[in-house]
Amino acid sequence: MVFWEGYISDELMGTFAPIVVYWLYAGVYQLLPSLDQYRLHTRKEEEQKNLVPLPSVIKGVLLQQLVQATVAGLMFLATAKPTSTGSITQPPLLVQLIQIVVAMFLMDTWQYFIHRYMHQNKFLYRHIHSQHHRLVVPYAIGALYNHPLEGLLLDTFGGAISFLISGMTARTSVFFFCFAVIKTVDDHCGLWLPGNIFHVLFQNNTAYHDIHHQLQGTKYNYSQPFFSIWDRLLGTYMPFSLVNRQEGGFEARILKKTT
Ligand SMILES: [Zn+2]
Ligand SMILES: [Zn+2]
Repeated sequence: MVFWEGYISDELMGTFAPIVVYWLYAGVYQLLPSLDQYRLHTRKEEEQKNLVPLPSVIKGVLLQQLVQATVAGLMFLATAKPTSTGSITQPPLLVQLIQIVVAMFLMDTWQYFIHRYMHQNKFLYRHIHSQHHRLVVPYAIGALYNHPLEGLLLDTFGGAISFLISGMTARTSVFFFCFAVIKTVDDHCGLWLPGNIFHVLFQNNTAYHDIHHQLQGTKYNYSQPFFSIWDRLLGTYMPFSLVNRQEGGFEARILKKTT
């Protein structure tokens, strides 16, 4: 039993809930007071290093979400199984949890290799992925600021593959997709807030992804959005430490330079 039952279908929720959740979660970060003591970069750095203004970032995210909603809607339409009662039986909670974990690994695997290739292939980097890296100092609303083609290839197809292979129902996918979106936004929030559960549970977190957005770390820490396994297995993991910044706040500092 879920709160939307009887009002809208699971498929419609799976299509639109991640978008609503994105703006709610990123909106909360955006509306927070200054919190300079928890920032990973100073405001000055944000102004100087970022190459794109906020209104363009918002437009870019909305465009990606339009692509995402279209593909998700089509995917749900193609996979929906009509039943005589109009509702399908949901698997036991444990099965749903296992499907979510499987989907997390699948999404990570897809994103790691496509993301890494987008850095290695100069054409793809210059024309597509560099758009995401215009935010050298990430902030929550910019989490899905991507070229629309990247939005389709990396995020949307990654989501579709995770959904299809894990075998989860549309209802389970509502939770999975919303979780993935929250995690992605959090990884870009630019804040190291005390008590952030993602920072405790995941090695791949705000500071980890911040390294990837820094110019010296851009060829490392490709893994996203959940684990760091592929980076560690394939030698692209960049160790770092979180140190106090003189001007206040923190800094994710790269620990070693390799060739
Ligand atoms: Zn990248
Ligand atoms: Zn990013």
